[in-house]
Amino acid sequence: MAEIRVENAIKRFGKVTAVDDVSLTVNDQEFVVLLGPSGCGKTTLLRAIAGLGMVDSGRIMIGTRDVTYLPPKDRGISMVFQSYAIFPHMKVYDNVAFGLQMKRAPKAEIEERVQQASKLLHIEEYLDRYPGQLSGGQRQRVAVARAIAVRSEVLLMDEPLSNLDALLRLEMRAELKRLLAEISATTIYVTHDQIEALSMGDRIAVMRNGKLLQFDSPMKVYDVPADRFVGGFIGSPPMNFLEGQVQRQNGSARVVVNDHVLTPTPEMAPVLAGYDGKPIVVGIRAENMEALAEPAPDALRVKVLVVEPLGSQNLLTIQIGHNVIKVSTHPDFHVAPNQDIWIRFPIDKIRWIDRETGKTLIPDLEKLVTP
Ligand code: ATP
Repeated sequence: MAEIRVENAIKRFGKVTAVDDVSLTVNDQEFVVLLGPSGCGKTTLLRAIAGLGMVDSGRIMIGTRDVTYLPPKDRGISMVFQSYAIFPHMKVYDNVAFGLQMKRAPKAEIEERVQQASKLLHIEEYLDRYPGQLSGGQRQRVAVARAIAVRSEVLLMDEPLSNLDALLRLEMRAELKRLLAEISATTIYVTHDQIEALSMGDRIAVMRNGKLLQFDSPMKVYDVPADRFVGGFIGSPPMNFLEGQVQRQNGSARVVVNDHVLTPTPEMAPVLAGYDGKPIVVGIRAENMEALAEPAPDALRVKVLVVEPLGSQNLLTIQIGHNVIKVSTHPDFHVAPNQDIWIRFPIDKIRWIDRETGKTLIPDLEKLVTP
């Protein structure tokens, strides 16, 4: 069992709090992606878990062991870090075999594991070369092969695919996911690439300014982002945000966006009633709106500004009052710039966001809303 538990981890560099009271538990054999913009503290947190940098306070547990102050070699982990480079004086074969040789694994087992890892990472033909004779992307693949060959219970990876070209990255993403499921290691994987996070992780931990904002399944993070930042960071295009106004009517609430009335679901109506007379942010994804060529009673008339045919979809930029948003349509939906279309908002796909705090309102938060 190799559950990883981070409890109230804090790490400061002078005035910068790189990791700000983060707690999270990665289940045994789970694949968790740490995601966030540059400088949000992902690497610092991963380094603390690896033992490459100590936390100022808090605790790190791997399985039942408190590893907070243990050196990396005593933590039972394998890792891929930019700073933890492969050995330049060793051939690729010996680099990949290194961890297994340290564990004094039988020769036949080393051979098998090196071949298997090399095949997966497409480096079989370089086994006889020195790292200096490889490209940056090839060296990175050697580092990943070395980490997975050992079969540790815990695998920590910091942007392991960052030096690969787009096509290889796409291929490796799927292969690495398959392999990691096969070797059943508990994995923490750092990336700032949200597509990588969505496609690979069992769960995604989204960080910003050293804080953990959300820790959920990829679909939950995408569909119900905890706040405006997460909705804007995840997804391509990002979630749309529209300015709305809450109005209470007959004890219930409705939201007006540019004269268009949205009636919240019965679960959300009481929460929104607490915002009577106040502005609210309406969050909706591009693919969750319905674009119509003809007027319909429950649809809002909008002007198309830009049409981007992307093959599998047409991405429209449209104007609603002061708001400019993106709507995704079927590629057969033919429309030209400056033309009017009608947009329907499926009410269950709307995320209501507190304008002051930026937090997404959910029915459970009802008790926190001041009437
Ligand atoms: P990136 O995606 O760019 O690698 P990150 O999310 O991994 O970013 P970290 O490298 O963890 O971010 O850095 C978090 C914050 O801590 C940043 O503001 C960074 O400048 C600061 N920081 C990191 N390491 C040090 C250090 N050794 N000394 C001083 N400040 C540091």
